[in-house]
Amino acid sequence: MNGVNEIRSAFLSFFAKNGHEIVQSSSLVPRNDPTLMFTNAGMVQFKNLFTGQEKRPYSRAATAQKCVRAGGKHNDLDNVGYTARHNTFFEMLGNFSFGDYFKPLAIELAWKLITQEFGLSKDRLLVTVYHDDDEAFELWRKIAGFPDSRIIRIATSDNFWSMGDTGPCGPCSEIFYDQGDKLQGGPPGSADEDGDRFLEFWNLVFMQFEQVSPGERVALPKPSIDTGMGLERIAALLQGVQSNFDIDLMRALIIAVGAATGVDPDGPQKASHRVIADHLRASAFLVADGVSPSNEGRGYVLRRIMRRAMRHAQMLGAPDPLMWKLVPVLSQQMGQAYPELLRAEPLIIETLRLEETRFRETLARGLSILDEAVRDLSQGDALPGDVAFKLYDTYGFPLDLTKDALRARAIDVDVEGFETAMARQRAEARKSWSGSGETGTERIWFALKEKTGATDFLGYDAERAEGVVL
Ligand code: ATP
Ligand code: MG
Ligand code: MG
Ligand code: MG
Repeated sequence: MNGVNEIRSAFLSFFAKNGHEIVQSSSLVPRNDPTLMFTNAGMVQFKNLFTGQEKRPYSRAATAQKCVRAGGKHNDLDNVGYTARHNTFFEMLGNFSFGDYFKPLAIELAWKLITQEFGLSKDRLLVTVYHDDDEAFELWRKIAGFPDSRIIRIATSDNFWSMGDTGPCGPCSEIFYDQGDKLQGGPPGSADEDGDRFLEFWNLVFMQFEQVSPGERVALPKPSIDTGMGLERIAALLQGVQSNFDIDLMRALIIAVGAATGVDPDGPQKASHRVIADHLRASAFLVADGVSPSNEGRGYVLRRIMRRAMRHAQMLGAPDPLMWKLVPVLSQQMGQAYPELLRAEPLIIETLRLEETRFRETLARGLSILDEAVRDLSQGDALPGDVAFKLYDTYGFPLDLTKDALRARAIDVDVEGFETAMARQRAEARKSWSGSGETGTERIWFALKEKTGATDFLGYDAERAEGVVL
């Protein structure tokens, strides 16, 4: 009854009943935005509707949108496996109004869905509003009957949503659930708001301005609504579990990892099971949307995600490539909602098998080099940049994989030293290329290496990569 698949359907049919067109999830590779690496919110496919640039036959829509947050403005990669609420791939449930309804109906519908359809207890709910948004404040008071203490005014950008330097923007109101004092953490806006006790699960964005240029903001002709609710988070709440990784869908994947490796999914290595389950979803969906692992741009982000999971598979003692074997379990869980997963299944399996087979040729050796290099280091020390670079260049270790590997030992990586080593290697490569002695083959090799970006940095540092037209 409360399974992920039912919750997704319940959300969509609630909004269909309320006059919304059900629209398919768009691809993880944004078709309309070369500056964005991956679709990271439900509104991405509707961007031009908010500004009025594009028209559709409907003015209300609802979606379950595939999202990846592993780069750019929203990068949750390092959190995954270690926080209870972050995935790299997740589904965002959203309802949208394009110049149709605004704050009153948006809040009313949200309140009705979570308290009546989903049955969340009103006493556990609280919300934030942008500090000067008196209208939203009054609406929550009226519609939810909240006392003032449960409507928290926040002055930071957490409650003012913008798409980028320009574009539609506006104040937002986030809905939180208090999971009780058995968990650590304070309410939103407090000093310890990052704990797990108060879980943000829905963000209602009141799109009412357009940032025309960095210094100029004008009112949109027709204010609009954009909301995003994490399916994994609402599922955790409805299933009475405290982590996205304990919901039915993720649990099925985690159990499959345990069965394939013989390692207890609830034992001391549970973070590895979680990372593998999460990264399997991200990898499979990215491949289904046409991304393949490579050394630059989107393909490199995919490779980083895959290899990171593959190191965890190795740590669980998997004797052979593991990830590809889990694909049928994922298809079984999500194939009905996302038929592209079924269509691409053979490609996903082959891509994972090939990548893991290749990476295994250097992984074990790289890990022993890493072990050796940190043997004499202690907590708070940093791995020298040239070692991190050697692991990257010779053993195919993305920098964040090396960081992840050292995380448990609280050892850092000298990132600056890593960058210096990379710059040095590039300069040397160029120098010997321009020298007179080398053969034609070497010339081609260097040219190719530059072109394919074997030493290219863009993909790994997604902040930088996001600004690049891919
Ligand atoms: P958080 O503060 O927890 O990182 P956020 O404020 O960055 O979340 P939004 O950009 O408001 O998230 O996205 C809307 C909703 O999508 C969130 O309320 C949450 O339910 C869900 N969500 C966001 N990031 C993730 C993630 N990495 N994994 C799973 N769900 C997520
Ligand atoms: Mg976030
Ligand atoms: Mg937040
Ligand atoms: Mg939010």
